[in-house]
Amino acid sequence: MPFGSNKIYSGIVRRVLDAAQVNSNNTAISLHGQIGDSDFATELFSEGKKNIVIKPIIDLLDEAPIITETMFVFWEWIADYYLCNLGEVMQAALPAGLKLQSNTLWTLNPEFEAENKLSKSEMAVLYAMPKNASKTSDELSKLSGIKNVLPQIKKLLEKGALELEVSLSDNYKPKMASFVSVAAEYSTENAMHALIDSLKNAPKQQAILMAVLQFGLNNFDTPTNSPNALPKFEISTKDLLSFSGISSAPLAELVKKGILLKSFKRVERTDTVETEIVGINPLNDFQQEAYRKILESFEKHATVLLHGITSSGKTELYIHLIEAQLQQGKQVLYLLPEIALTEQIINRLKKAFGKQVGVYHSKFSDSERVEIWNRSTQSKTGELTKHTNVEEFADYKLILGTRSAVFIPFNKLGLIIIDEEHETTYKQQEPAPRYHARDAAIYLAHLNNAKVLLGSATPAYESYMNANIGKYGLVELTQRHGNMQMPTVEILNTVKLRKQNRMKTHFSDPLLIKIKQCLTNKEQVILFQNRRGYSPFIECSDCAHVPVCEYCDVSLTYHKYKNILSCHYCGYSIESLKKCPACSSTALETKGFGTEKIEDEISIMFPEANLARMDSDTTGNRNAYRKLISDFEQGKTDILIGTQMISKGLDFDNVSTVGVLNADNMLNMPDFRAFERSYQQIMQVSGRAGRKNKQGVVLIQTGTPDHAVIQNIVKGSYQNLFVQEMEHRKMFKYPPFFKLILFNVKHFDKPLTDRAAESFAVLLRSRFGNRVLGPEYPAILKIRNKFQKNILLKIERTAPLSKGREIILQALEEFKASGAFNNVQIIINVDPY
Ligand SMILES: [Zn+2]
Ligand SMILES: [Zn+2]
Repeated sequence: MPFGSNKIYSGIVRRVLDAAQVNSNNTAISLHGQIGDSDFATELFSEGKKNIVIKPIIDLLDEAPIITETMFVFWEWIADYYLCNLGEVMQAALPAGLKLQSNTLWTLNPEFEAENKLSKSEMAVLYAMPKNASKTSDELSKLSGIKNVLPQIKKLLEKGALELEVSLSDNYKPKMASFVSVAAEYSTENAMHALIDSLKNAPKQQAILMAVLQFGLNNFDTPTNSPNALPKFEISTKDLLSFSGISSAPLAELVKKGILLKSFKRVERTDTVETEIVGINPLNDFQQEAYRKILESFEKHATVLLHGITSSGKTELYIHLIEAQLQQGKQVLYLLPEIALTEQIINRLKKAFGKQVGVYHSKFSDSERVEIWNRSTQSKTGELTKHTNVEEFADYKLILGTRSAVFIPFNKLGLIIIDEEHETTYKQQEPAPRYHARDAAIYLAHLNNAKVLLGSATPAYESYMNANIGKYGLVELTQRHGNMQMPTVEILNTVKLRKQNRMKTHFSDPLLIKIKQCLTNKEQVILFQNRRGYSPFIECSDCAHVPVCEYCDVSLTYHKYKNILSCHYCGYSIESLKKCPACSSTALETKGFGTEKIEDEISIMFPEANLARMDSDTTGNRNAYRKLISDFEQGKTDILIGTQMISKGLDFDNVSTVGVLNADNMLNMPDFRAFERSYQQIMQVSGRAGRKNKQGVVLIQTGTPDHAVIQNIVKGSYQNLFVQEMEHRKMFKYPPFFKLILFNVKHFDKPLTDRAAESFAVLLRSRFGNRVLGPEYPAILKIRNKFQKNILLKIERTAPLSKGREIILQALEEFKASGAFNNVQIIINVDPY
């Protein structure tokens, strides 16, 4: 099966397959054929079937299957449920290192040291590789004279000689390091001393051995049963050379003589800083009770929702549940909505579980993702097959990751924890598969006979409803841990305050007074505004012209720091304007405000405070994120200004005040989930306030203080708003009562887009009747120069979905068969929220 497509070919395997290579439990194997560069075999036939296209297969790339049969069923489910191609799922699921393609670029690993195990053809490829340039597989094929070069590349990749060229925001390099150990015959102190004495004429070799000996005795215990024996240990070559201060030539001599044994190991990239394992904290009474209820609930339900208020210690509960799984020899997948959160939580988990923890997310380098992939599947066959140098590795028992981690093939999965399960980042919007990691994970758990724990202080309404109707178990945690009280919430009526002249630009007097107070008391402040940039648009005061994106139907956001106007939809940006392009007036005004403007104004009002801003403009790479968070944790920052990014479950100790600058722009979002989301975001960011033995304060600026969402936030009543919203959702046929499928019709030509959308809507309507809404222009008519029109299908929750999907695919077939709209794209988004 080629990548990105749904076509399935059959091939004749010309090579005799070793019985071990075709493990009957794992029918999926990867094949290299003429169809594409690196195709994927899904089934093995003993005889060619009739009526199928048969293509020859040149060679096998993987000696063992890289995915399990269960994973393949999972892929099929995603393709089926989210109405996309199996090839698209495969594209998303596999790290690049596992899907070699002829245009992939390769580079030499400068740290690779040959191990004398390379085959002739591997050597040919390695020698063909220039030192300081990258080459594609095709180029390497020409340079080495080997026609079919991918299997060699694959082997060199596994041995660490070649690397995938990947552009990374981080200095993340795959690493193989060499280690030496003392040969068995010299592993007693007497033998070693005799040996050292015998090397009088080679003082450098002597010095190296002394260094090895000293290192071993300093760092490792001698075996208790034989006091003369040296401890068994390894020392990295690099450490040894720097420790002894001697060059590598005498070391090589010792290896040649068989005195020292050299081995290669992958050095763990995630473990550059050793975390001391300190074990697990005991649970408090409330947590203990919740823990007991979760276990009880798991007896009846595969999925349990843990509704625990902020700072109730959900993570502590997770840790205890993980511990129980690991003790049973099971694996745990721990999903987080945001990479930033992994930084804070990974230390906590490593303290509890040490090296059993692996981290997997999109900002990691591909080679690292391959490594985690391999390590989490290694025990699949009960032996270490191809990764000959990694005997030292324990399997990862606990994988921490963002949504794409659901694609890692597990073999002993016992539990999936989905933290902050309400977060929208669990849903992939672009490109296909447009899956929701929470929903996919629940299916994945089902396939593996595993349990799922959803955790949130503000559960998504569909999860809460599932818990209410008994589909999921429900466990509540209503006490904050360690004497922390919920913060008090104060509403600041901006309309009234403005009339009283008590607003300075975007800040009310009470908020400013509170900030001042915090700074005096050396307490920290978080200011929340769910909009990045300086201001959402600029407007000419003379002619009211607003600069808009050339490719999208949206105004350009002003970024003062970079002095640009940029489009948040396509990334288009221009230098900021000095004059109005329409009337040449210089009276350009910034309208509205984003995080950058807040930062600007606060820095003028509180010049003594240290400010930091956390939004997607300031957190481009992992290090920037880490630094922002650690600076704030260490108190180097007084005021942290940010978008919803700061609301996602980060825990800080010294935040006494949280200011929500404009609740209204959240409430007014044109989205059926606007109220649910506003409540979630404000409650989440409020949860950052409060310290041990001291109550925090949340100040919310709004022009509509009587709004149901605001009132329920003041009361902290999740339930009230939920009940009220459910009435509306039911009445207007929205989730969780109805399932939504969005068809986004796109083309460069507006009339064609209109006609295509109309025509497709007719096809759908003939099948689904008044469940079809639209076509309608979305809020943004044009994105990246393509016009768009949306058709929305609302299907009863109880309707059989497989039937619905079949009918949709029929309609699509008919639409394509008409031939009138060849280049029109229809993007299908199932559960598009
Ligand atoms: Zn103008
Ligand atoms: Zn744009």
